[in-house]
Amino acid sequence: YNLKIQRSEKMDVIGQLAASVAHEVRNPLQVSRGFLQLLGERLVDEKAQGFTKVAIEELDRAAEIIKNYLSFATPELDTISRLNLAKEFAHVEQIIVPFADTQGARIEFNVPSHLHLHGNDAKLKQIFINMMKNSLEALGESGVIRIWAFEHQGEIVIHLHDNGEGMDENVLQRLGEPYFSNKVNGTGLGLMVTFRIIELMNGKLEFKSEKGVGTEAIIRFPAS
Ligand code: ADP
Ligand code: MG
Repeated sequence: YNLKIQRSEKMDVIGQLAASVAHEVRNPLQVSRGFLQLLGERLVDEKAQGFTKVAIEELDRAAEIIKNYLSFATPELDTISRLNLAKEFAHVEQIIVPFADTQGARIEFNVPSHLHLHGNDAKLKQIFINMMKNSLEALGESGVIRIWAFEHQGEIVIHLHDNGEGMDENVLQRLGEPYFSNKVNGTGLGLMVTFRIIELMNGKLEFKSEKGVGTEAIIRFPAS
């Protein structure tokens, strides 16, 4: 591995602004969706009905992006509790394994049941889903994602390893930058959100990667 390390210092003005705007935008999206649906029901022309259907799908896509990437804007609404890491991973597994199956990738979880940390459960799950989605998107043939965790010197240490396409130094340096993406349909928001959530939970995130070999993310949280 070329030991390039990325720290969670990406508290960015643009990112914060995007997050709070997203919060405000959710309601008008919902209202527009409702009226489009009413409109669609009233239209006789089948082609025109098709237009409203596409419009609704696109609104749903926007709402999904907000939900997945920008909903961390309201930390005051979060309930913080003592979380069992294995239990949280069981939920993540349910969501991500069907995705992995469709592309023939394998995911191996090795998370012992006694690890606990403090945080918000939805956000904890969100960071793992964001990172595992990136791994899945980077995998080629016979892709494997391995996750293992342990407690060390008062910290919960979580490793997330994939044998995907890896990153060169230039990409590694830019991880967490808002809107930085190398994908056709990427938002470039996944890791910005991930870095921020981990920071809010007093954790740290580091990446090691090698082009053509794979990527490893190491996350540390204070143990509870
Ligand atoms: P997006 O997934 O929308 O592109 P992210 O913030 O999640 O945005 O990721 C930013 C970029 O970081 C990706 O476009 C990709 O180039 C790179 N990246 C992140 N995780 C990985 C990984 N596991 N393997 C290879 N590249 C990665
Ligand atoms: Mg992503």
